[in-house]
Amino acid sequence: MSLLELTKVGRRFGAIQALDDISLTVEEGELRAIIGPNGAGKTTLFNLISGSFPPSEGQIRFDGQPITAVNPDTLVRRGIIRTFQITQVFLSLSVYQNLRVAVETAMGLQLRPWISRRTRAEVEAKVEELVAVTRLGNKLDRIVGEMSHGDQRVVEIGIALSRHPRLLLLDEPTAGMGEEETHHMTDLIRRLNGDQGITIVFVEHDMAIVFGIADRITVLDNGTMLAEGTADEIAANPRVQAAYLGSELEETAA
Ligand code: ATP
Repeated sequence: MSLLELTKVGRRFGAIQALDDISLTVEEGELRAIIGPNGAGKTTLFNLISGSFPPSEGQIRFDGQPITAVNPDTLVRRGIIRTFQITQVFLSLSVYQNLRVAVETAMGLQLRPWISRRTRAEVEAKVEELVAVTRLGNKLDRIVGEMSHGDQRVVEIGIALSRHPRLLLLDEPTAGMGEEETHHMTDLIRRLNGDQGITIVFVEHDMAIVFGIADRITVLDNGTMLAEGTADEIAANPRVQAAYLGSELEETAA
């Protein structure tokens, strides 16, 4: 059974058919990239999977259960986590405080006036785990609002991890980042997928990243699914080349 399964999914906005007849599956443990030109329907696809709005047609199943009309909060509890939709990053708090609040919230402790020493130790252990995975250990006292965009996005992922995602949706994770930050983010995504076994679907415009890390690539074009396959298959696909990236793809794959 696939972790995520879309069957003949479509979404209309008035006269605009943003997505049409999309059928795709994502297997547990996969690292899947969604690419396509501007307006192809990538954000709409994420909105459907994360429950921001329902599809106009078709069905979406997660872990074998229909989620077509399930609200985003319930989906978060079931393990579909999209970074921006989870608890906001608190810009005026430090990295440590953000991670701690996230862990306490995930454990349902935020409204408790008192927590036992044992529970506190459990919270601290979980925060330590997040620090280790995100490699934010040398930045724990930094105020998040004063950090670089790249670091803020890593904190955001740390917060997402506190919810134990089964499916992590990353919307342009390296957008606006410099070379070093991009490298750090790419490495983090790889480790989350490879070491932690988290299934990840990401939308990305940077083809070097897509072709460097994705197990499989789904190409959307004008609301339809143009192609799906491994990096080699997508790079060699004449329809993809003709309709979309052309020489850029060939250069990346070379
Ligand atoms: P980009 O790479 O530019 O972010 P995208 O692939 O994410 O593009 P979408 O944002 O999903 O594409 O948009 C697909 C189509 O649906 C576009 O024609 C867009 O104008 C339209 N669309 C998306 N959301 C809405 C909405 N809420 N209301 C009306 N039209 C919408």
